[in-house]
Amino acid sequence: MTPLQQRIETIEETICRACERAGRDRHDITVVAVTKQVSAQRTREVLDAGIIHLGENRPEGLLAKQEAIPQGAVWHFIGSVQSRKVKEIIERIDYLHSLDRLSLAKEIQKRAVEPVDCFVQVNVSGEASKSGLSPDETADFIDSLQDYDKIRVIGLMTMAPNTEDEQLIRSVFKQLRDLRDELAAKHMPHAPVTKLSMGMSNDYSIAIEEGATHVRIGTALVGSESEGDE
Ligand SMILES: *Cc1c(COP(=O)(O)O)cnc(C)c1O
Repeated sequence: MTPLQQRIETIEETICRACERAGRDRHDITVVAVTKQVSAQRTREVLDAGIIHLGENRPEGLLAKQEAIPQGAVWHFIGSVQSRKVKEIIERIDYLHSLDRLSLAKEIQKRAVEPVDCFVQVNVSGEASKSGLSPDETADFIDSLQDYDKIRVIGLMTMAPNTEDEQLIRSVFKQLRDLRDELAAKHMPHAPVTKLSMGMSNDYSIAIEEGATHVRIGTALVGSESEGDE
């Protein structure tokens, strides 16, 4: 087994254990491999190892990986998007995890040919360094997207604080789930809001216990080529 296959197996075991603890079905969780820090070659290996959901956070990285991988992958854009970059990426991605403002929604509406599945990014922890809407403004924001037929709000996304404090991380994830439940209960045709994109290398197991449907795993999955681990 290659180091990459070993990492994937470890992640798979961790996910299955978290599912057991939470009484969840493994099939309800999608692993998005965040390949932003590795080469197209390593990204190709990730795909060949069976992980087809790939996440990039910059247009340049997305385009480079797509050039090397013309088919077989499902593409997630997970980084903040400058409005002027929308036209470069919007027809190339399957999911956008970082819808966080009306000006971005307007640009997507203008540029997209097909409706785009979006997660609205919420800054639950309130850290100044993080993008996203505050939990309080999220419902109004989603309401205001009603007439944007190129945007489908499938869920919410957040990033937990970078901390060892597991209770704090858990409470951030739980708050996002509670907000998701509230919004899903409104049964808005343009915004089903059933999905939860949360959990990264250090906290995906907690995120799954708290209801994540999409975990975005970078270093723990793809490794770091700078350390020459393969
Ligand atoms: C980089 C990144 C990740 C993955 O981070 P790791 O800690 O390497 O797993 C997940 N989500 C977003 C938005 C990121 O930018």
